[in-house]
Amino acid sequence: MFASDIHCLVVVGAQWGDEGKGKVVDALAERAELVVRYQGGANAGHTVDAPAPDGGTRGEGGGKGGAFVLHQIPAGILHPGTRCVIGNGVVLDAATLFHEVEAVQARGVSVAGRLTVSDRAHLVLPYHKLLDAESARSREIGTTSRGIGPAYEDKVGRRGVRVGDLRHPGIVAALVEAGCAHANAMLAHGGSARRCDAGEVTRGLAELAPRLLPYVGDAGRLVADTLARGGNVLLEGAQGALLDVDHGTYPFVTSSYTTAGGAAVGAGIGPTAIDAVLGVVKAYVTRVGNGPFPTEAEAPEGERLRTLGAEFGATTGRPRRCGWFDAVAARYAARVNGLTALAVTKLDVLDEFETLPVCTHYQLDGARLDELPDSAAALDCVEPVYERLPGWRRRTGEARRPADLPDAARRYLERLEALAGVPVRYVGVGSRREQLIEL
Ligand code: GDP
Repeated sequence: MFASDIHCLVVVGAQWGDEGKGKVVDALAERAELVVRYQGGANAGHTVDAPAPDGGTRGEGGGKGGAFVLHQIPAGILHPGTRCVIGNGVVLDAATLFHEVEAVQARGVSVAGRLTVSDRAHLVLPYHKLLDAESARSREIGTTSRGIGPAYEDKVGRRGVRVGDLRHPGIVAALVEAGCAHANAMLAHGGSARRCDAGEVTRGLAELAPRLLPYVGDAGRLVADTLARGGNVLLEGAQGALLDVDHGTYPFVTSSYTTAGGAAVGAGIGPTAIDAVLGVVKAYVTRVGNGPFPTEAEAPEGERLRTLGAEFGATTGRPRRCGWFDAVAARYAARVNGLTALAVTKLDVLDEFETLPVCTHYQLDGARLDELPDSAAALDCVEPVYERLPGWRRRTGEARRPADLPDAARRYLERLEALAGVPVRYVGVGSRREQLIEL
């Protein structure tokens, strides 16, 4: 994707998350000098199947390759020549960041000198997790209870603690005191008997500071300088467009801007710096958590998709809801992200199906809808209208070039491309690095 006129590329999820962005980022990161996470927190999890940097491969001679689950470190970390950035738009759970750093280091990935955390990123603190766990609203929405929503609420409420504040213990103590008082008032208001202790949180941060501060810097500046030198920068989205706090199926959304516009804000660069936007979609659709999902498949087809696609959350292990490709949602995602190309992942999961329904448009109260309606309540009432495409009934996992794909698979992709109005540039036929075909 990187080319003489494409130095700054955004990779976004164009469905409800879990599209396989981690794998696509991993494949493209080889040519990127920087890979930047720009929103979300430890609620997002990419699973990347990669060889270990020490040369070991999955299952061979005790090699340390295989599935790496990354919640906060950008997927670029698996390429030794790539530097990773956690941007200002992220809310950082520092304790889990260090667990992750230790876990990848134990498998031969070096992190020292390769990770920069924005001094403007906000911290997820113990009271955010407590609020999330105790909140009935979080349960209704189906959040991961990792404190992400409350941390963003404190950010917007001007009560947050930023990573750069750790340089000033006095400021941290005052911010935590105020944040804790607010959280305890919310807990009391919600009928919870649990409380958080400001002193304990402050002491925890004092211990954390000397460990985290060596990684901290002006991330936006680093991105801008890299681009100014002509270096390639990949901005890595988490979750998906339909979970964007403004453009998603509100209120069943995440707390950040997952769409490409959020990439500029969350990485600390201007929108004119972005050259291209690659939208990642599965060849079908999944969704975790509650909220409308028009093309959700009934059992046993939904069950079959879940089993064949191993659709269980990387962060929570929750089974994902599964359904058929939704071109209405894809067109919408194309518009709100300004997609310039699509990567269609997990085509191989459809290998066994005889017929593949694809939703071309919705019906609502007798009217045709080609775009997503403006409310989750309306989306809950739409009737998906399907076109049925023939399956290919052949394994695609060994395909490495477009010509290796069965004709019916190529026709399926052409149809998705026509319905979404965006060219398909990459196709995934398995979880390994080499199982990504460039069209
Ligand atoms: P992300 O957050 O968008 O990166 O998605 P997840 O990591 O939650 O889920 C994607 C899962 O699908 C991971 O386990 C990947 O290894 C796997 N995956 C990615 N692309 C493909 C593909 O083309 N085929 C198959 N079978 N699995 C894939």
